[in-house]
Amino acid sequence: MVPFYERRLEFNLSSFAMKLVSLQRFIKIVSMLNSGIQTSIEVLKALIRIPSFSREEAAAADFLQNHIEAQGMTTERKGNNIWCLSPLFDVQKPSILLNSHIDTIKPVSGWKRDPFTPSQENGKIYGLGSNDAGGSIVTLLHVFLHLCRTQQPYNLIYLASCEEEISGQGGIESVLPGLPPIAFAIVGEPTEMQPAIAEKGLLVIDVTATGHAGHAARNEGDNAVYKALNDIVWFRDYRFEQESPLLGAVGMNVTQINAGTQHNVIPDRCTFVVDVRSNEWYSNEELFAQIQQHIVCEAKARSFRLHSSHISVEHPFVQRAIRLGRKPFGSSTLSDQALMPFTSVKIGPGCSSRSHTADEYMLVQEMEEAVVLYLQLLDKLVLS
Ligand SMILES: [Zn+2]
Repeated sequence: MVPFYERRLEFNLSSFAMKLVSLQRFIKIVSMLNSGIQTSIEVLKALIRIPSFSREEAAAADFLQNHIEAQGMTTERKGNNIWCLSPLFDVQKPSILLNSHIDTIKPVSGWKRDPFTPSQENGKIYGLGSNDAGGSIVTLLHVFLHLCRTQQPYNLIYLASCEEEISGQGGIESVLPGLPPIAFAIVGEPTEMQPAIAEKGLLVIDVTATGHAGHAARNEGDNAVYKALNDIVWFRDYRFEQESPLLGAVGMNVTQINAGTQHNVIPDRCTFVVDVRSNEWYSNEELFAQIQQHIVCEAKARSFRLHSSHISVEHPFVQRAIRLGRKPFGSSTLSDQALMPFTSVKIGPGCSSRSHTADEYMLVQEMEEAVVLYLQLLDKLVLS
């Protein structure tokens, strides 16, 4: 039996040693941060200078690929997607994917600056795509380059994908089948470094009502607009049963409508479009099947591929995030998570409300905090 005072000493020593280890780790992170954040800033600025609208990301992908290879890494490429496996890749270990996108939307009206000339003022880096998702691209790369050279209980894969803003088929979807099995993914998007643990999916439906044309003056024909009306009212009023604490109810909105050729012809065709945002309780296929049972017009889903997603709060990554003071939330905006058939969390520097706006910017401080937090979240993370 160890005497009480010795046990206490032992305890104090081990607690001291633990503090020392975490202090050493902290110092290491801070010194690495100081040396590396400047590089991340320069890479971000370089990316801002290269226009990279969806499907036009070749030059940005070239630049990023060259930059990663200059760090001594081997890259792979498909179209304008660039990825890179940790050099210590071990098939026995699970793999974590670090992903963000290099494409941007076209600049909205209202920019007072040149969207393609990065400028740094008061700790802000202005430029198109700085917030969505340049900050995530460069900070995740920074974290990848650091962690992939250390011993971790997992493999890392870094993937800078294209065509995200249009959910294009040449984007992440074309790359995933060729990657090693992924156990978990981090999707870098501006969330103020809060973890989105659920994300709404998207289902777009084209609906067609068919009637018979006739002369309006003689009240002939069968009016397709009136046929469409009942279904439009149904879409407005129907509520799916399962509501989600994170994502709320399934949302349905009729967003476009078309009918008629001239004032005196009863229209024989009326088409409208419905935008459906799914929560994690329903697959797009289930929603579509239910919708078809309720409406009389002919419905066609454009695709079922943009799924809602959800990860358990019990997941080790989410648990670690909570311990670090992060607040899990549900996100209504779509990301590449929709195309991932494995669990994922969306978390990144910047703020969603600054995306797709004029004079978009990223704070240097947000990038610094992101690097520290990504490292704290990932270093020695055990997935099971
Ligand atoms: Zn984005």
